Amino acid sequence: MARKKIIAGNWKMNMTPSQAVELINTLKPLVKNDDVDVVFCVPAIDIIPAVEAVKDTNIHIGAENMYFEEKGAFTGEISPEMLVDAGVKYVIIGHSERREYFAETDETVNKKVLKAFEHNLTPIVCCGETLTQREQGVTIDFIRQQIKVAFLNVSAEQAAQAVIAYEPIWAIGTGKVATTQQAQEVCKAIRDCIGEIYDEATAAAIRIQYGGSVSASSAPELFAQADIDGGLVGGASLKADFGQIVNYDK
Ligand code: PEP
Repeated sequence: MARKKIIAGNWKMNMTPSQAVELINTLKPLVKNDDVDVVFCVPAIDIIPAVEAVKDTNIHIGAENMYFEEKGAFTGEISPEMLVDAGVKYVIIGHSERREYFAETDETVNKKVLKAFEHNLTPIVCCGETLTQREQGVTIDFIRQQIKVAFLNVSAEQAAQAVIAYEPIWAIGTGKVATTQQAQEVCKAIRDCIGEIYDEATAAAIRIQYGGSVSASSAPELFAQADIDGGLVGGASLKADFGQIVNYDK
């Protein structure tokens, strides 16, 4: 069965609650595409008004992070139950900015992935190499390690529902998009890795996004690749361009 494309915006630390509602109202008519799952991953404080604003549309709201404990003395953190209760369906886990600035590791990513599944949240699991790693020729080895640890103790049924975002760190927010060949090569290697951990059916079901300076002009070729099932989009998700990205096939 063909995999449905999934195109998600990562708003990062942008948009106040009222700005979020305004942006959603602007983008609503532009992001209609029945062939694509459309997700807006928004700051935690924007989730409740965003869920309200997307009612009766094709847009799903996602979170940009969550903690791996159920509840308790973890000041400032957001639990999976809070996200579910607020109407969230997807959660980005292990974005490279979280790894770089907030000390997230492959191990915490794994704990969060397991916890997300416990609560029926779909994790968008991020992986990606630095420029140095790419230049040293260790990209595939590094990504395989990230994936293997992230999916430790995750069942095949769960993995088949997951989304992986391949985001080369050197391409995030830099305007430098990976070439279509580079992006396809790594996304295929990720799918092969999932096939090795689980089986062919799981590898065929899991959705793999490319992220890193995706724009309206680069999206059509990227998303046409055999192993690229959509994108995780930062900067361009805050603009009308996101409508063109979601409708890359029109
Ligand atoms: C991201 O934040 O996940 C991202 C890919 O950002 P940008 O599209 O701005 O490079």
